[in-house]
Amino acid sequence: MIMTRVTLEHIRAARERIAGKVERTPTVLSPSLSERLGAQIYLKLEHRQITCSFKLRGASNAVASLSTNEKARGVVAASTGNHGRALAHAAKLEGLRAVICMSRLVPGNKLDEIRRLGAEVRIVGNSQDDAQQEVERLVAQEGLVMLPPFDHPSIIAGQGTLGLEMIEQVPDAALVLVQLSGGGLASGVAAAIKGVSPGTKIIGVSMARGAAMKASLDAGHPVLVEELPTLADSLGGGIGLDNRLTFAMCRDLLDDVILLSEDEIAAGIRHAYAQEREIVEGAGAVGIAALLAGKVGANGPVVVLLSGRNIDMNAHRRIVCEAPSLKEDAI
Ligand SMILES: *Cc1c(COP(=O)(O)O)cnc(C)c1O
Repeated sequence: MIMTRVTLEHIRAARERIAGKVERTPTVLSPSLSERLGAQIYLKLEHRQITCSFKLRGASNAVASLSTNEKARGVVAASTGNHGRALAHAAKLEGLRAVICMSRLVPGNKLDEIRRLGAEVRIVGNSQDDAQQEVERLVAQEGLVMLPPFDHPSIIAGQGTLGLEMIEQVPDAALVLVQLSGGGLASGVAAAIKGVSPGTKIIGVSMARGAAMKASLDAGHPVLVEELPTLADSLGGGIGLDNRLTFAMCRDLLDDVILLSEDEIAAGIRHAYAQEREIVEGAGAVGIAALLAGKVGANGPVVVLLSGRNIDMNAHRRIVCEAPSLKEDAI
C-alpha cells in the first residue's frame, strides 16, 4: 500500500494508541507576548513532554504499531538526538532492542541521555545522510526495523496528536506556529488542525542556516542543502531526496514558511527564560523568535509551539547572559 497522506482519522487512532504513554502538555497564555503583539498569544508547553520533546509521540505510536515479529527484531534510526532519545524510551518501555545512529554534529548531552536509556549508539560521519547509510546497513545485515525521524506515516500521525491538543486547548486559534525541519511535526500538526479547523493558518518556522524543507518547497522538489551548525540543532538535516510523505504534506498544508537568523533564535531562548520562565532549546524557541522578530503578524489568537528543551545548560547560560535584554526584561 502506498500511503500518500496522513489524515485526521490516522491521528485520532494514534492518540488512542499512545494514551498513557505520553503527557497531555499544558497550553498557557503569554502575557508579555500578548501585550507586545496586541493579540492573545498562547504557548504550548510541549518541551515539558517526557524525554523533553514532542518526538515521544511519534516514536510511541510507531513502536506500538509494529507487529510481534518486528518487535522481536528491534528498531533502528538515524537521529539528531531527540528522535533517538524518544525511540530509546519507547523501545525500552516495550522491552525492544534499539540502535541509534547519529552524526558528529549531535551535541554530547543528547548522546549521553540516549545511552542512559539503554539504546546502542553509533556515531558515523558529519551529516544525517551518513548516519542514514549506517541505518540501511543495519536493516540489511541485522534485520532491524527502521523507524525514521519524520518521513513515516506512524511518526507523522503520532506528532499530529500534538495538533489535536492545540486546537482543543485553543479552539479559536487563528494561527499556529510550528517548527519545521524534516516536516513530520508540521505535517502531522497541520493535518490535525486543518482537519478540525480548516480556517486556522499554520506557519512553519526554520533557521536560515540549512533550511532543507524551505529550499525544497521553493525548488518544487526535495533538494540537498549543506548542514551547518546552528543554535536550533534539532532542526538540522535534510528531508531526503526520496521523501515520500512530508514534502507533499508540507507543500499542501502549510500556509507559509519563515526563516530566522541565529541572533533571532538566541533572542527567542532569552525571552522564553526571562519572561516565560521556561528553559527551551534553540529549535523550541523559534516560534517565540518569529514573533519577537516581527516576522509574523497576529489578527486573532496564536498558538506557539515550544517543541523541546534538550539544550546543554552551559550553552543555555551563555545565551541568556549574553545580551542586555535579560536584565531589561527580568527587572
Ligand atoms: C525534531 C524536532 C523538530 C522538528 O521536527 P521535524 O518533524 O523534523 O520537522 C523541532 N523541534 C524539536 C525540539 C525537535 O526535536
